[in-house]
Amino acid sequence: MILFKQASSLTNYLLQQKNKSGKTGFVPTMGALHAGHLSLVTASKQQNDITVCSIFVNPTQFNNADDFAKYPVTLENDIEQLLAAGCDALFLPSKDEIYPPGYRAKSYDLGVLETVLEGRYRPGHFQGVCQVVDRLLEMVNPDNLYLGQKDYQQCMVIETLIKSLHKQDSIHLNIRPTQREDDGLAMSSRNLRLTQAQRQAAPAIYRSLLRAKEELLATETEKIEKDATAYLTDRGFAVDYFAIADAETLLPAGKKNGPLVALVAAHLDNIRLIDNLRLN
Ligand code: AMP
Repeated sequence: MILFKQASSLTNYLLQQKNKSGKTGFVPTMGALHAGHLSLVTASKQQNDITVCSIFVNPTQFNNADDFAKYPVTLENDIEQLLAAGCDALFLPSKDEIYPPGYRAKSYDLGVLETVLEGRYRPGHFQGVCQVVDRLLEMVNPDNLYLGQKDYQQCMVIETLIKSLHKQDSIHLNIRPTQREDDGLAMSSRNLRLTQAQRQAAPAIYRSLLRAKEELLATETEKIEKDATAYLTDRGFAVDYFAIADAETLLPAGKKNGPLVALVAAHLDNIRLIDNLRLN
């Protein structure tokens, strides 16, 4: 695996590979890698000649300074895992490499994605995500981009970004299933911050999603949302939202005849966890 710190070296390397008519798969991450991230690397390896992973804890997508300061960093371990997974190139940019002096942030039109659910509870978050992904796509120019369904709304935001950059014909978006621990907890870098007691409580999030799926036939969506919020609150969570939404727009579900997704964001103390489940 080749390590790159400078975008220009990475871009030159990838251009050379492309000249050999190779396909590039790209897995952007913020590090503290786990099997969820590695499932994206494995998918990329199967479908491309070169797989690039990036690790960059992007300051502009954190709307909470404490969350940014406490974001886990496990670089040595990440490198070992990427080597074992057969990743070809790792991009480790500095903040200046992504946002050089004079960088001017664009404003991205994300429509309602910016005001519902994560957009509502994390103002500015998705603008920051678009800033970093826009820069990374310029540098890597991949044929295939790999994202996890764990961040359902983020996938929709990046799909919108790719269309707004007119790159939808050159970059294929691959959304991969959420990888879970044996007890159902969605793998997440933030899980490293959970205390033992919080780690034991955390799988209730996935159970609340499974319960919602079971209740869907017999119960109104608003009642399911209320019940799930109470279920999590009783188990020590501060719930930002538990929502059943149209899986294609993320607007409130209303009628139950279209594709639906349940999405949840809840805090255990100061650690915020998210998860989601397609219901039909
Ligand atoms: P992050 O490092 O949290 O920014 O995540 C980098 C990529 O890995 C994103 O596309 C995430 O959606 C994806 N990802 C994170 N957790 C999981 C998981 N448990 N299963 C599958 N993909 C994941």
